[in-house]
Amino acid sequence: MKPMRKLLLLLCAVATLSSCGERMRTAETQIVVSIEPLRAIVEGIVGDDFEVVTLVPPGASPETYEPTPEQMERVERSQMVFAVGLIGFEHSTVERLTESAAVRYVNLSESIDLLDGHCHHDHAEEHHHAEGANPHLWTSPRQLRQMAATAYAAIAAEWPDSTVYKANYEAFITRLDSLDGRIIRRLSEVTSRAFVIYHPTFGYLAEEYGLTEIAIESHGKEPSADHLRHVVDEARAKGVSKVFYQREFPRSVVETVARELDVEPIEVDILSGDVEGMIYGFVDKLAR
Ligand SMILES: [Zn+2]
Repeated sequence: MKPMRKLLLLLCAVATLSSCGERMRTAETQIVVSIEPLRAIVEGIVGDDFEVVTLVPPGASPETYEPTPEQMERVERSQMVFAVGLIGFEHSTVERLTESAAVRYVNLSESIDLLDGHCHHDHAEEHHHAEGANPHLWTSPRQLRQMAATAYAAIAAEWPDSTVYKANYEAFITRLDSLDGRIIRRLSEVTSRAFVIYHPTFGYLAEEYGLTEIAIESHGKEPSADHLRHVVDEARAKGVSKVFYQREFPRSVVETVARELDVEPIEVDILSGDVEGMIYGFVDKLAR
């Protein structure tokens, strides 16, 4: 069933048709998510009852992103807004908008033990994210599980009668548990548990599955020659054969490192809406 649409149809019976038609086309049947991977969590629970709208467009980096005036208007008129809760624009812009518009803002990192380090080098205390915590929670199935629990609690509070949402949520958790098992099995085949990546986005996954993430980016900026030397040395010492790039960040410096290590850089799309496929795809490439 589609509770929101049912409600709107009911309203149609008591209001004029023209104003109702207007309502159906506005953002009131929309749920907003800050980044595309959160779509997987929300749609995993509500199915296609709502149109899920993502703020950060493909190819843009969430950390430097600011919503457009049109998006801000959507946020104000949406049903609910879901955010990681640790990315700059979420707190500075989106959360404030929801407060003044009385829209429910759901912070999906609320109940999570956050990693503050971003980088496994000697300057491990550095990071460049809002709130001083590593925001890349969605790249780990165990953190996704927590985020889904928080999302489901918020959705169930709004629509407490939906048995479908409960069943969907439980099925999503079952899939994440199975993903966890598949990752463990696939990682038993890796030759090196270390990898190089431009922007360090797999900190939680690395911590949970005993991997070492070596970041090319330094202090949220392009690396110095010194830092690059350090990355290559560490990668060699750890037998790294996988170097990853993300399209939101410069590719040339990744190619330089890959050349030094005599490997081809591999793309990983950490902002894919198919989070389960993205995570397993990453692990699978690491193990190849
Ligand atoms: Zn980041």
